Amino acid sequence: MSSIKMRPPVTAAKEDRSFWLQSTNADAITVPLQGRAECDVAIVGGGYTGLWTALRIKEQAPDTRITILEADFCGSGASGRNGGQVHSWFAEIDLLCDLVGHDDALMLCRATTDAIEELKVLQDSGTIDMDLRLDGWLWTASSTAQEGAWSKAYDICRTLGEGRFRNVNGADILQRTGSAASYTGIVEDKAGTVQPAKLAVGLRQLALSKGIAIHEQTPVVEIMPGQSTELRTAKGILSCEKVVLAANAWLSAIPELHPYLYVVSSQIIATAPAADILDEIGWVDGASICDAQHHVLYYQRTPSGQVIFGRGTGAIAYQDRIDSSFNRSGDNGLDNIRELHRVYPQLKSVAVQYDWSGPIDCTAQHLPVFDHLRDHPNIFYAMGFNGTGIAQTPVAGRIMASLILGHDDKWSKCGLVGIDRRTKLPPEPLRYVGAKIVRRAIRRKNDAEILNQKPDRITRFLASLAP
Ligand SMILES: Cc1cc2nc3c(=O)[nH]c(=O)nc-3n(C[C@H](O)[C@H](O)[C@H](O)COP(=O)(O)OP(=O)(O)OC[C@H]3O[C@@H](n4cnc5c(N)ncnc54)[C@H](O)[C@@H]3O)c2cc1C
Repeated sequence: MSSIKMRPPVTAAKEDRSFWLQSTNADAITVPLQGRAECDVAIVGGGYTGLWTALRIKEQAPDTRITILEADFCGSGASGRNGGQVHSWFAEIDLLCDLVGHDDALMLCRATTDAIEELKVLQDSGTIDMDLRLDGWLWTASSTAQEGAWSKAYDICRTLGEGRFRNVNGADILQRTGSAASYTGIVEDKAGTVQPAKLAVGLRQLALSKGIAIHEQTPVVEIMPGQSTELRTAKGILSCEKVVLAANAWLSAIPELHPYLYVVSSQIIATAPAADILDEIGWVDGASICDAQHHVLYYQRTPSGQVIFGRGTGAIAYQDRIDSSFNRSGDNGLDNIRELHRVYPQLKSVAVQYDWSGPIDCTAQHLPVFDHLRDHPNIFYAMGFNGTGIAQTPVAGRIMASLILGHDDKWSKCGLVGIDRRTKLPPEPLRYVGAKIVRRAIRRKNDAEILNQKPDRITRFLASLAP
């Protein structure tokens, strides 16, 4: 049987890591795999998905021997670099309803609200210190074109009797965020922010305490499928019965998955501490905020007063080759700084101390997919979180655990399982060239709409081609 080649990440230099990772002791603490080893379930990737999957399997089948192989260190991928915005799937309930139907959509959304509660219990019990602050998530508009971006999700929630969101006006937003840029929106109260790298490091510690083996600095380069599958690394071989591919955007290197996954970059900056200014303008709590541009702006203030300000760049990798620009783009965060100063002119004199990027694993439906490789019923994968994973990967862990353990339950039967109902994306080089053109159009459209101007017809048409 032919082997499956992996394309491990280009690891980020220390100075290119996220603010979160640089302020957390996150480096590898476990040894690389050396020689031959075996286990029941091998997991490729030590981000939230791999760690939650391992923990869920252990909860249900404590005797399972699980080994995680991580290319760099746990949390070095998207899990330790993200915007730290914690919100449920109710924001995407319209997409979920379209894909999986109302019943599953509701079940999955509720599972993410349970996951947020679970994060709170992990923090309150002292198990994981992650700076979780459930002060709400604001989904706002800062131009007429953005108004009502939430209407479908909001209306479905109301129809289903889920009062998850409430409306906020300009005065509410100004009072809570200190910015007048957004003037209407909705808020999800039981949501908020987290220090994402602390969460990843805490999950690694929890996994180790449950007897899950972890080998960091162990990129998997090749998989030899079979009843006993072998994962090959630089210095070792791990044999196992079942495999979980939890390598996020890097799964796009697998030819069978490439048609369903496209990888875009999102960039984040972090300012110097500016607690005095933020307190003065009334931005005091741990709410997460985003607007409704196509390349969404997302921001939070940390407990010590840094502003974390992120934006999708729309940059796409040719053949999904994720190079070092997906660690740090090299433009010193200029585009984000411009937007930061538009939203917070009060911060123009505050230095920006960090900028970094991360790859986002996108699918046409903007929702993750779980399945096994077509010819390999013992090699499973989870991918396509589309930039929303903190409350979603604990649910992904449940789905993956059910698939691995062969359970016939609501998780293994849910509508996110199965690649067949997913849309294939255009092949290369059409995909890359098309994405570049569409991305530029989206930027022009955003820039015009922010000023409440109407973009020209060609720009509108090209921007509408985005999946
Ligand atoms: C810039 C950015 C901002 C985001 N903001 C938010 C947000 O505010 N809120 C939110 O909920 N979500 C956000 N997300 C999404 C969220 O971070 C992800 O959905 C989540 O981290 C996915 O977890 P994961 O474990 O699947 O992926 P990752 O954390 O990327 O883990 C995959 C791991 O696989 C490893 N790996 C890859 N290839 C190999 C190999 N061959 N061998 C071994 N290991 C390998 C990588 O090193 C990596 O550690 C954001 C993502 C990015 C990039």
